Amino acid sequence: MKLIEGIITAASPLHLGDGQSRGTFMPTLQYIPGRTLRGMVGYYLFKYKNDLFTKSGIGEEDNLGKMKVIFRNAYPVSKDGSRTVAAPLSVRWCKKCGHQMPHDHSECDVRDKNGRLCLHEGKKYSGLISVNSFSSHILERPDMPSRSIETKCPITRDRHSSPGGKEQGFDLSPYHIESIDAGAKFSFRMLVEDGLEREIIESLNEAAVIGGIGGFRSRGYGIITFGNLRSAFLNDVIREKESRIPKSDKATLVATAPMILKNGNISRIGFDDLFIQRANEVLQVAGIQDTIALSEDPDPHVTTTIARGWSLKYGNSLSELIPCIGMGSSANITATPRALATLDVFGIGEKINYGYGEIYVLPGVV
Ligand SMILES: [Zn+2]
Ligand SMILES: [Zn+2]
Repeated sequence: MKLIEGIITAASPLHLGDGQSRGTFMPTLQYIPGRTLRGMVGYYLFKYKNDLFTKSGIGEEDNLGKMKVIFRNAYPVSKDGSRTVAAPLSVRWCKKCGHQMPHDHSECDVRDKNGRLCLHEGKKYSGLISVNSFSSHILERPDMPSRSIETKCPITRDRHSSPGGKEQGFDLSPYHIESIDAGAKFSFRMLVEDGLEREIIESLNEAAVIGGIGGFRSRGYGIITFGNLRSAFLNDVIREKESRIPKSDKATLVATAPMILKNGNISRIGFDDLFIQRANEVLQVAGIQDTIALSEDPDPHVTTTIARGWSLKYGNSLSELIPCIGMGSSANITATPRALATLDVFGIGEKINYGYGEIYVLPGVV
């Protein structure tokens, strides 16, 4: 496979709903979900390039081995171009100086230039950070996109604005659309089977022009462009990652996208045997002999969220809502650097081709 990377730029406001409006307020996500990009490209291929739709397995829902295009969530770019990830919920950062606090410390032991100890407390941070935060040990946030709120008054059929409120029998109260401003930049990554990469890159650009992403597209929202697209052999990427992972066998896997672990119809919220089984299935499909195991002290930090399934084959529509593991949840495991690097690239669990299940690796117990 190949890793394709690039930059997505918002050419208009973007509204990326999570399906949860609060009253008349419709919030946007601050990143572009992989499922949204998959929906954009998949719908385009289904309509205009049916050969490639079939050949790419973009409509695949379950079979890991048949997923030839795997999308990732596109997070806001960080200042130095490093990867943006979800902060681990297990980590506390100093309230004053932002230093990463070791697990067993209750006060920050960083000294200022006069040698005075900081001594402030730590607190948890749930949100997006630069992966460099773990080498500098200081919380570094990416450039979060600026957002705006636009108030729309519904227009009646005869082009007059709302004639009255709910009391008069008109459910036409104004509503408020939150959006990401034009100009926002996101780092784009996806995996593509060898031989399909030229056609898929071509289709990304075409689908962005014809379709766009997110809500209110008829009002001019949702236009994106892809820039600086480049590809690398996935094996080279894995080998390079592997070389940077210390050989200590303990590691922390942090979910940087929601992770779906399903056994039949039951969704498992937590890291147990099913998690290990799904991880080892990925390694097997990737042709890696190594397996991973839960470490003796798994100490998991887990939150819950809702993932949205999206059927390309059945009308390009929402197919299911799946309770699943939230971003920033983490598990402590034992694994070889090769296995860790492979999981870092592919992710773990169901619907990894939607961008779900993406993880990153931190050495040791974090
Ligand atoms: Zn401090
Ligand atoms: Zn210390």
